[in-house]
Amino acid sequence: MRPIQMVDLKQQYQKIKAEVDAAVLSVLESSAFINGPQVQAFARALATYNNSQYVIPCANGTDALQIAMMALNLQPGDEVITPSFTYIATTEVIALLKLTPVFVDVQPDTFCIDPEAIRKAITPKTKAIVPVHLYGQAANMEEIMQIAIAHNLYVIEDNAQAIGCDYFFTDGRVKKTGTIGTVSGTSFFPSKNLGAYGDGGAMMTDDEALALKLQMVANHGQSKRYYHDMVGCNSRLDTIQAAVLEVKLKYLDEYIAKRRAAADYYDAAFAAHPKLKTPARAAYCNHVFHQYTLIVEGIDRDALNTYLAQHNIPSMIYYPVPAHRQKMFASFNTAGAGLPVTDWLTERVISLPIHTELEEAQLDFITSKVLEFASK
Ligand SMILES: *Cc1c(COP(=O)(O)O)cnc(C)c1O
Repeated sequence: MRPIQMVDLKQQYQKIKAEVDAAVLSVLESSAFINGPQVQAFARALATYNNSQYVIPCANGTDALQIAMMALNLQPGDEVITPSFTYIATTEVIALLKLTPVFVDVQPDTFCIDPEAIRKAITPKTKAIVPVHLYGQAANMEEIMQIAIAHNLYVIEDNAQAIGCDYFFTDGRVKKTGTIGTVSGTSFFPSKNLGAYGDGGAMMTDDEALALKLQMVANHGQSKRYYHDMVGCNSRLDTIQAAVLEVKLKYLDEYIAKRRAAADYYDAAFAAHPKLKTPARAAYCNHVFHQYTLIVEGIDRDALNTYLAQHNIPSMIYYPVPAHRQKMFASFNTAGAGLPVTDWLTERVISLPIHTELEEAQLDFITSKVLEFASK
């Protein structure tokens, strides 16, 4: 049995090495390191895959969210409703732009933002909602869009963990996450479901005027060369990364299927155990399992983490401190206001290895060790 890793990028690379190496070499030979043709070729391929009008590449997923908020012209003091139960990037860019993050709770089954909590948090200052499709499962976008339309709010989807996830609307429409709201941001961090071999990110929208603005903000606010209409930033997807991503996009559906198969294996192994709650799968979407996250009850979660590590099984706590309890947000401290579900989950979640290269022997070993601990 190979050593078990949270994400096995080495093994995955070996399977596509010839294609990736050729793509990278062609960039080196052309020397078009900045904005080479691969960048737009990848953006077009991703737009086709997602059935989205505009894909604007950028340097990373954090920038994607920041640029989206800048392009929407959100102003200091505007309130942005966001879950606290997420990676820090989602909430950090809100504060960076001097907007006001309004942390709300998540649903205990999907781990995603609770539409009811959004409704309660809306004030006259609310300008946007940032749903996070956490661990690869969509937030309840149908309800979120209804709320947004009723209150005239922007929806900025944080799709960093859920690229490729299908969302099923009650009227039969199917859309990819990241193409439902006003705009979305995604990340190509190597461990993400569509990972580059370095940093990368993209924004997506169907709104032409917004697409032009996103492009401008990402490129020094430039309308034509050396003419800068607004304050922007410098956020580009590297050509080498675009070349890698163009190759890997062809395998995304296969990668998702492998992640789902590993999740199925875990689900079957843990289903009957009273102390292990397997991740719920919302009927409205097709979970792409960026993470496989258990909720453990009546078990010392941190001791399980240590026990697995002793058997060379990595496991992670995503995330050990929710945003509303980070020092960064001390001045926005809503910890007292209470996000009971977020706090409850933070104490109980544990993520097991999930990636495209897990073998049955590894899954068998992981599940047997988890069950052994849980049954002690
Ligand atoms: C990874 C991630 C980001 C940020 O992406 P980077 O490319 O690392 O900047 C944002 N939000 C979520 C939920 C993420 O998982």
